[in-house]
Amino acid sequence: MTDLVRLSAAQLAQALTGGQVSSVEATQAHLDRIAAVDPAVHAFLHVSADAALDTARAVDRARGAGDDLHPLAGVPIAVKDVVVTRGQPTTAGSRILEGWVPPYDATIVTKIKAAGLPVLGKTNMDEFAMGSSTEHSGYGNTHNPWDLDRIPGGSGGGSAAAVAAFEAPLAIGTDTGGSIRQPASVTGTVGVKPTYGSVSRYGLIALASSLDQAGPVTRTVLDAAWLHQLIGGHDPLDSTSLTDPVPDCVAAAGAGAAGDLTGLRVGVITELGGEGYQPGVLARFRETLDLLTGAGAELVEVSCPHLDYALGAYYLILPAEASSNLAKFDGMRFGLRVTPESGSVTTERVMAATRGQGFGDEVKRRIILGTYALSAGYYDAYYGSAQKVRTLIQRDFAAAFERVDVLVSPTVPTTAFRLGEKLDDPLAMYLNDVATIPANLAGIPGISVPAGLSDDGLPVGFQVLAPVRADDRLYRVGAAVEAALESRWGGPLLAQAPELEVAR
Ligand code: GLN
Repeated sequence: MTDLVRLSAAQLAQALTGGQVSSVEATQAHLDRIAAVDPAVHAFLHVSADAALDTARAVDRARGAGDDLHPLAGVPIAVKDVVVTRGQPTTAGSRILEGWVPPYDATIVTKIKAAGLPVLGKTNMDEFAMGSSTEHSGYGNTHNPWDLDRIPGGSGGGSAAAVAAFEAPLAIGTDTGGSIRQPASVTGTVGVKPTYGSVSRYGLIALASSLDQAGPVTRTVLDAAWLHQLIGGHDPLDSTSLTDPVPDCVAAAGAGAAGDLTGLRVGVITELGGEGYQPGVLARFRETLDLLTGAGAELVEVSCPHLDYALGAYYLILPAEASSNLAKFDGMRFGLRVTPESGSVTTERVMAATRGQGFGDEVKRRIILGTYALSAGYYDAYYGSAQKVRTLIQRDFAAAFERVDVLVSPTVPTTAFRLGEKLDDPLAMYLNDVATIPANLAGIPGISVPAGLSDDGLPVGFQVLAPVRADDRLYRVGAAVEAALESRWGGPLLAQAPELEVAR
């Protein structure tokens, strides 16, 4: 069989169903690829080879016995390390959770395991999902497979890099302000943030509970649709979980790939795409708009004036919720415990020493900011105002979706920047999410699909946003864009990525 790791999840699933390949062979091929390239990429924090191969063997046996299997059964997957996995270490990229082994699985992991997908391991991320470059991980940088001196995006840089480097055909990410879509954009992969509440958050280590959402990271739109349908749906264990059935994303991707978008109204967001956007990013964006019109879509310019305040509102709401969510990491319950070297050993001093040593700078910065924003006398001025802005943004989107079916923008203003370039400038780092954050504030779904390479030879992402619960529209438009661009490129964008040096 040709290079198994280069197949999409759908192609691999077909080969498994057709009996051309076993899940053990497919899983082993990915484990070998991880051994070969991950010393350079560092997408993984933990690799669970034995558990993955056990699942693969069980799936092969079940298939041999003629059991009814999920379409993705036997296709390996990587999981972001913010998602808890029973018996496998889970750190959320933080030293404070070093050595913690969760006693339970997140609901999405339960679904993945029940469907027979071997879990290859856990992927690197910015500590507690705070960041846009994965440089805030407590366990070292992940490198962008397109250029190892550049960032893979963040916070889910590990999941995106693993998929882009052919270490896994599928991965799970989480998106609180862009951590699935921004890494997808800068690595030439596909990333989806589903409607808030449509994928269970049970077993996700919370960053900001009103914004967090798990979703697929893949190389094709169809693969994302399959994974979305697997992990989506109501969960009684998550009180914010929607009761709606998951829309038929796979059918929508199939319809989109046929390339006919006649009658579709596409809104181009005025506020996302002007100053601060790299010329090459804007050029690829405009070319993609032309493809949409070519496929029969109607373009409309749409203004969402309050998006100018989205970043400001987000960086009050997120730290406020994070400061509360992270209070439980106190050296008493999970992972690290630091006893002060001198002086008395009191609970307070152990907590302070543990948090002082266990948390990194970005996490501390946001805890301080959030605690301040929530404190008496400041709550109304900061947190309260930010929530009002959030409502205005939701109204902007609601008004826009009266006029159009989907909204579009570049996913990220720039391509992947160099490691270290923005590390000393938190505001510059925050600006990378200016186009992804509004969707989280409004709870609406979004996808990033590859739109080509910028002048610097690095990937650019095209973002599509849809109304709450209309996630299937992302797949229709995403698949149409993908099909049109791939016929222009003569294959997937990732085929143009440089070969990685293979470790021996
Ligand atoms: N980069 C954004 C932040 O730092 C988004 C994070 C995320 O989506 N988890 O908050």
